[in-house]
Amino acid sequence: MSQNKKTWYQLSGEDVLKTLGVNIETGLTLSETEARLKRYGHNELKVKKQGPLVRFLLQFHNFLLYILMVAAIVCVFLGEYIEAGVIIAVVLATAIIGFIQEGKAEASLEALKKMIVPRCKVLRNGKEEIILTRNLVPGDIVLFESGDRVPADLRLLSVKNLNVDEAMLTGESLPVTKDVASISRSDLNPGEQRCICFSGTFITQGRGQGVVIETGEKTEIGRIAGLMKETKKVVPPIMKKIAGFTKFIIIAILFFSVIIFGVGMSLGQEWANMFLAAVGIMVAMIPEGLPAVLITAFAIGAMAMVQKHVLIKRLPAAETLGCTTVICSDKTGTLTKNEMTVVRIYSGGRDFYLSGVGYDPKGEFIEIKDNKQINPQETKTLAKTLAAGYMCNHTILIEGEKGYNIQGDPTEGALVVSAKKGGITPSLLRLDEIPFESEQQYMATLHQDEKENIIYIKGAPEKILEMCDSQSIKGNIEFIKKEEILGKADEMAKKALRVLAVAYKPVIKTKKSLTIEEDLSDGLIFLGLQGMIDPPKKDAIEAIKKCKTAGIRSVMITGDHIQTAKAIANQLGIGDGEEKALSGEEISKMNDEELYEVVNKVSVYARVSPKHKFKIVKELQRHGHIIAVTGDGVNDAPALKRADIGVAMGITGTEVSKEASDMVLIDDNFASIIKGVKEGRHIFNNIWKVILYLLPTNGGQGLVLAGA
Ligand code: ADP
Ligand code: MG
Repeated sequence: MSQNKKTWYQLSGEDVLKTLGVNIETGLTLSETEARLKRYGHNELKVKKQGPLVRFLLQFHNFLLYILMVAAIVCVFLGEYIEAGVIIAVVLATAIIGFIQEGKAEASLEALKKMIVPRCKVLRNGKEEIILTRNLVPGDIVLFESGDRVPADLRLLSVKNLNVDEAMLTGESLPVTKDVASISRSDLNPGEQRCICFSGTFITQGRGQGVVIETGEKTEIGRIAGLMKETKKVVPPIMKKIAGFTKFIIIAILFFSVIIFGVGMSLGQEWANMFLAAVGIMVAMIPEGLPAVLITAFAIGAMAMVQKHVLIKRLPAAETLGCTTVICSDKTGTLTKNEMTVVRIYSGGRDFYLSGVGYDPKGEFIEIKDNKQINPQETKTLAKTLAAGYMCNHTILIEGEKGYNIQGDPTEGALVVSAKKGGITPSLLRLDEIPFESEQQYMATLHQDEKENIIYIKGAPEKILEMCDSQSIKGNIEFIKKEEILGKADEMAKKALRVLAVAYKPVIKTKKSLTIEEDLSDGLIFLGLQGMIDPPKKDAIEAIKKCKTAGIRSVMITGDHIQTAKAIANQLGIGDGEEKALSGEEISKMNDEELYEVVNKVSVYARVSPKHKFKIVKELQRHGHIIAVTGDGVNDAPALKRADIGVAMGITGTEVSKEASDMVLIDDNFASIIKGVKEGRHIFNNIWKVILYLLPTNGGQGLVLAGA
């Protein structure tokens, strides 16, 4: 885009919007985006690839072929043109086969990579929609939140707690806080441009909105040539082992040829004849086909895995996966269906049962004490409990042809549905919010109300109760009985329910923004608990059984309540029911040695944060386990990287987690991991079969010649 004298960060948000010709309320129109796509091209970086000639020539860069080529040259000097021709033919054939096979393998890997195309959320034509990142154009209004990858260079327009990891651009390992204020100084380097988010960096916290200023090659990262080079190929460990092994064989063959040569000479043969014989033996014995065959075996395996909904990002992972001994899995969404329905509510000191199926907003409220149906609209605290869940929410319910579904987070979807069942759907303007983060386990919003403004908060019961100092009973504010409430939460959790607490706080009308320190440290009024079912996946139960027979241990690591985790683990068959479950709090109190002692015995970890997950993986590895770890959040990246196999979720996973992983579960299903493990073992077996076949054949040929 053409810039005036000022650079983007020096312009105010409004001026940037004006320059780019876009309205912040509606975004670009469809025709405008099409025109701009033509003008500026797709938002992608062209990866420079080795040309076919270079790739072909590289095939000759091989220890085996060097030896043969030297032999061919010696033959030429000896005037043995036919022999030289034969050897050269062998060399050429090997290189050509290698070239073709490698090309095929690369093509299938490319195809695999294309299956995880990045997408982003934009405002176009007045509507929010998800589009392919490559279709972004300058002027697009982008909405993003923690876990997203910044899709293009953006001038920020609004932010909330926005922190961005720019390490890939600036080398700065700590996330930087961003805001919208323009900066008057000039000549800032990227790290100092606080109101700009750069393509390729990661949102580690908060959310924001920005307008695209540059796309594709024009972005900051596009300009840094070094980063565009093709990433280095990683060699699977088995191939390294085999490479070492082949070297050994070649040396043995050389040695063998020299002996044959020596023996022949001592028998009075002419040296030139003997040299040719030795070379012939060498050519026969060297397993030229091996490298090409191996690459192909991996590529075929990776393609077979895709069919099983497992996407391998790096070939070596296929082999490692086959050797896995422990699988550490998330609960919600991986082991469970992630279709939440509120079935129990505790509010105003009373217990209610809520009927209905899935996201269909039809159901009745029944008071458990006397089994009588009640009207939530006439039950003040219950009504407010439902309202809080409805307001402190980003998820929407949509009625499609196949019934009701949600757009957003299932936990939040369940709260929308329970409120709709009760006919409580207030609409108050949202002034500010504190977004949900796994570590903090709650989310809060500030709304404009008639006489005063109101804060609603929802989250893990322990966290919410810490902030409350009173509770609502029949709409009145009373003394809070925390023990009783926590007891109720426990009781629901033991029934395998996921429990969320809600609370509120009236604030003055002039209050327009929320901060954790000022507004959430105390003074909240507890409203109620909502308990939701999230049934285990049927094939996850099967898969866990299969794991057991295959000698693989399944471990659950979740952010949920310890009782909920235990109950679900029981239903799934993880652990043996009696085993101790560990909470994040307990892990925090242990030192590395103590954790090392217990990790082999504990199969359920609850209320853990990503840093605990990392520790668990580390200690399991010290026991010599090969570990596959699943993760979907931003903060799971360290554990995913640390694991022998980092597994990201294809549907619900954040871009960050997909980036950090070795493989992606296309269907988010635990059962697919096991299918992947099986396929990995299969590849491994195939490779050894090939070796066991090639070696004796080649060896045989050599011996026949030697005998002659
Ligand atoms: P997991 O997915 O393993 O259950 P999370 O980190 O997603 O773990 O959630 C941890 C806890 O945070 C949940 O048990 C719940 O109490 C709370 N929670 C989850 N989602 C939300 C949300 N959208 N808003 C508020 N609180 C939430
Ligand atoms: Mg979750």
